Amino acid sequence: MSWGFERGKIYNRRGDIHARFRGQQQGGIITPAQHTLVIIITGEEGLEHGYSDRTRADGVFEYFGEGQIGDMTLRAGNKAIANHSADGKSLLLFKKEKAGLRFEGELVYESHHIEQAPDREGNLRDAIVFELRPIENVAEVVEVVSPKAVTTELDLAALRALAMAAANESPGKTQTTSNVFERSRHVRDYVVARAKGHCEGCGAPAPFLRASELPYLEPHHIRRLTDGGPDDPRHVIALCPNCHRRVHSGADGSIYNASLAEKMKSIEGSA
Ligand SMILES: [Zn+2]
Ligand SMILES: [Zn+2]
Repeated sequence: MSWGFERGKIYNRRGDIHARFRGQQQGGIITPAQHTLVIIITGEEGLEHGYSDRTRADGVFEYFGEGQIGDMTLRAGNKAIANHSADGKSLLLFKKEKAGLRFEGELVYESHHIEQAPDREGNLRDAIVFELRPIENVAEVVEVVSPKAVTTELDLAALRALAMAAANESPGKTQTTSNVFERSRHVRDYVVARAKGHCEGCGAPAPFLRASELPYLEPHHIRRLTDGGPDDPRHVIALCPNCHRRVHSGADGSIYNASLAEKMKSIEGSA
């Protein structure tokens, strides 16, 4: 479940998306101004032009950007996809079908490349192809690697530098210095280390230790309704499992989340 959408279920664009979030009523990329999400739609439109979105063997979904004529550029909807992690926005994929839009799941931008593909008038042009990974794959892989142990303030500063770099890595460049797993891990390692063994929500000690003897805490992305993938560490908080469940499933979840956002201001100072 992401933002109330259930994977595999069919939704109505007007009634289920625009009525709730507003956003552009035309085109395949919807960027609601008032909500921290970017919605992309895959369909048959590209097929008429001789290309189509596709899932690679390694699970990465390749999605063609927007722009009907001439070279595609990294602006508007395309920019929103490339920057969604740094902007703290969830990226949701729907597939256009006869009955409506099928929810395919939540993705994380990993990279993009340029490909030659025909535009609406049949002329070859630069097309931006986004490489997007299902969020659960990112979260699972990152979780398998235990967080780094931190012994000194110097270590913490070094972890913070890595996490900030991961969040701010410019997606405008095709050459990224690290992949989405590494960036996600840098953010998590720093946030968990910053918490020093205590939940940053309720202050209680972590409920148990990992096999690596590090306190068990979970990184929560305050600006999103779901977790996984990199985000600015000033908006990611380390929570005990109880507090984390409360944010996502509690009756007062959104109120509690707002109070965590308030807490983050003193935790990170400048946020
Ligand atoms: Zn807690
Ligand atoms: Zn969370």
